[in-house]
Amino acid sequence: MTHAWLFTGPPGSGRSAAAKAFAAALLCPHQGCGHCDSCHQIEVGSHPDLESVRPQGLSYSVKQTRELILRAAGRATLGGWRIVLFEDADRATEQAANALLKAIEEPPPRTVWLLCAPAADDMIITIRSRCRVVTLRTPSTQAVAHVLTTRDNVPHPIAESAARASQGHLARARRLALDESVRQRRDAVLSLPRTLTGVGECITAAERLVKTADEDAAAATTELNETEISELRALYGEGSSGKGLNKGLIRGGAGALKELENAQKSRATRIKRESLDLALLDLMALYRDVLAVQFGAQVELANEDRRSDLDVLARAGTPEDTLRRVDAIMLCRERLAANVNPQMAVEAMTLSLRNPRG
Ligand SMILES: [Zn+2]
Repeated sequence: MTHAWLFTGPPGSGRSAAAKAFAAALLCPHQGCGHCDSCHQIEVGSHPDLESVRPQGLSYSVKQTRELILRAAGRATLGGWRIVLFEDADRATEQAANALLKAIEEPPPRTVWLLCAPAADDMIITIRSRCRVVTLRTPSTQAVAHVLTTRDNVPHPIAESAARASQGHLARARRLALDESVRQRRDAVLSLPRTLTGVGECITAAERLVKTADEDAAAATTELNETEISELRALYGEGSSGKGLNKGLIRGGAGALKELENAQKSRATRIKRESLDLALLDLMALYRDVLAVQFGAQVELANEDRRSDLDVLARAGTPEDTLRRVDAIMLCRERLAANVNPQMAVEAMTLSLRNPRG
C-alpha cells in the first residue's frame, strides 16, 4: 500500500471527489459501497478516521500544516486506516510543503495521505516523487450533460448548454444549470465585448467586472464572517457575562480575533480573484469561438447559443486581432495572480479588447 497519493487534474475534473471515493474504499467494510454509515460519514465529512482539509485563503501556513500532521499521527479509531485528504495542497507555502514532506517521508504505519492539486508540477519535486500520481482528465461535454440530466434532473437542452459553457467543469456546469442568477451573470460578461467601442465604455466595463467579483465575495463571506466572529467571542467569554472579553483572556482573545480577521480577508481575496478569473475564462472561451468561426473550423463551440454575436465579432476583425485579444486576457489573468490592482489590470485588458467598429 502506498502511503501518499497525489490526485491531479484541471478544476472541475473531480480531484477531491475521486480522493474521497478512494478514502471511502479504504474505510468502508464493503470497499466503498456508498450506502453504509462509514460511506455516509465520509460524504458529510464526519468520519473519525478521515481528516479533511480545504484551504480557504490564498495559502496554507506551516503552522496549520504542523497541526494537521499532529492530527494525522493519531491512531485510527476503528483500527483500520487513518486518512488525510488535503484539497488544494498546492496552496501550501514553501515552509508548509517542507513540513508536509517530512510527514510523508516517515508516515505512521496506518496513515495515508491523499493530496489534490491541479498538476503534479504544482507540488515540490520531493513530495511529487514520493507520491503515486493519479491523473484525471477533463470530462467531455456529453459526460457532464449526462450527470446533470440523470443526477440533478436538469432538462436536456439546459444541461447540454451548461455543459458546453462550463467546458468540462462539472461544479460550474451544475451552478449554471440550476441557478438562474449565475446564468445571468455569465450572459452579462459575454455581452461585454460588443459594447467595447470607445475608451469610456472599456473603463465602465472594467468597473463592472471588478464590482461583480467584489459582490460575489461579499455574498459568499459576510454571513460566514459574522458567525465565525461571534463564535470566537463566545469562546473567549464575551457575551456570556455581557461585560466584554473576560479579563484573564483579553490578550489571547484579541490575538485570536486578529488571526481570524486575517484569515477572513485572505478568503475574501481568494473568492474575489476566483470570481474574476471565471469571468476572464468565459471571455477567453468566447474569443476562442470567434477564432474558430473566423477559420471555419468544425469544432464544438462553448458559446453555440450566442452564434450571432460570434459572427459579428468574427467579421469585425482578423484572426490576428482575435489572438491579440486572447493574449490580453491571459496577461490580465497573470497580472491578477501576481497581485496587481484588479481595476488597473482589467482596464488594460478591456482597452485591448476594444473594437472601434463594434
Ligand atoms: Zn460503505
